[in-house]
Amino acid sequence: MSQCLFCRIVNRKIPADIVYEDQQMLVFKDIAPKAPVHLLAIPKKHIENLDQLQAEDASILGEMLGKFAQIAKDNGLDQGYRVITNTGPGGGQEVYHLHFHIIGDIRQASWRGM
Ligand code: AMP
Ligand code: ZN
Repeated sequence: MSQCLFCRIVNRKIPADIVYEDQQMLVFKDIAPKAPVHLLAIPKKHIENLDQLQAEDASILGEMLGKFAQIAKDNGLDQGYRVITNTGPGGGQEVYHLHFHIIGDIRQASWRGM
């Protein structure tokens, strides 16, 4: 079993402020939010990043993305949101377990210029 940081959150070895969970996915609040709402959506399966996606992961990703709209609404983002996934050193990835940042209200975000 992978001991990466986000796998440990999935396995409840370290705490997180979880806002949504299902069989495939966990969504929790970013520990250092860059905006008033800053969530991280991760597959429970350890996938490093988009570069490491396997063909069999396509359905997991499709299901995850399909749920973002409702998760965003449930967290107060009724005016829209931004989804980002950093990939590799050139993308500024720090945690090597695939994650999508779901960010809003972007007008108040320190990531506004991205
Ligand atoms: P990235 O640069 O895309 O790999 O971003 C990793 C993100 O994970 C950053 O926004 C961090 O603030 C966030 N992060 C790191 N450790 C934790 C943690 N224990 N719980 C929640 N978010 C975390
Ligand atoms: Zn992991």
